[in-house]
Amino acid sequence: MTKIAASEKRHGRPKLGQHFLVDSAATTRIVEALGDISESTVLEIGPGRGALTSTLARRARRLIAVEIDRVLAAQLRMNFSQEPNVEIIEGDVLAIDFHTLFGPKPGSTRPGLNHQPEAVRVVGNLPYFITSDILLRLFEFRQYFETIVLMVQREVAERLAAAPGRSDYGLLSATAQLYARVEKLFTLPPSAFSPPPKVESSVVRLRMVSKLESLAVPEAEFIAFLKLAFGQKRKTLANNLKAQYAPRALRAAFEEAGVKPTVRAEALSLDKTAALFRALRAGGLSS
Ligand code: SAM
Repeated sequence: MTKIAASEKRHGRPKLGQHFLVDSAATTRIVEALGDISESTVLEIGPGRGALTSTLARRARRLIAVEIDRVLAAQLRMNFSQEPNVEIIEGDVLAIDFHTLFGPKPGSTRPGLNHQPEAVRVVGNLPYFITSDILLRLFEFRQYFETIVLMVQREVAERLAAAPGRSDYGLLSATAQLYARVEKLFTLPPSAFSPPPKVESSVVRLRMVSKLESLAVPEAEFIAFLKLAFGQKRKTLANNLKAQYAPRALRAAFEEAGVKPTVRAEALSLDKTAALFRALRAGGLSS
């Protein structure tokens, strides 16, 4: 749990991670990190008081902003009531069904015609305590998303973008890098927000390009394998995998994939991790 999450839990009612951006230069940089949005639908997560929303509304073809706070959502609705390209949804981004929002509408497709999903760009200065949940949700519906630009806690940005072998590379890095090319763009101090958070913040950009096909791995099984591989940080990869695979199968698969048996999951590239997974799968059998 992040420091912010812990402090919010202590104060009883969750505060929804409300730290509003007050640095207008940063606002512009964040919106520009989305690229040319004049022909795009943009999804904004947690628009709050609208720091990013106004710029987005001016530039995007269509803007959908999801805000959980009833009062803020009502204010945003009022402020943008004259903008036909802006839709404010009062709701929890973790509960939004993106198939309904961005998928084919009933009657909009004829049988036999392939529906091309919308290429939506996503942006948000996130409530940090649910960053991982939001990322997982976006990955779940990734068919709709092209580019994602998010403000997150600096440490989380570093983990998302870390290369294998770095101390901050872990399950979050491997999962994000399975679905996207991740770049850490820039860092902001607490003073860029009101009220200031207790931590530094960084903006990351994820360009959604799935590696599932090139790695030749089935999604659900490979994600379960990654969770097992990164299970206990102190253990070697082989020791983590022992929970599910027989020693003989492990020895053979490590050899076939060209992976040293003493390695930790954190040190292995996604390519090598996938090679090991494929070797274990081909050799059959878990214990
Ligand atoms: N975008 C604004 C800005 O940059 O000033 C506000 C950012 S603030 C860090 C996070 C925003 O997310 C708050 O407005 C908060 O109410 C909203 N929020 C928190 N949890 C949410 C959820 N589950 N779904 C949608 N919005 C949420």
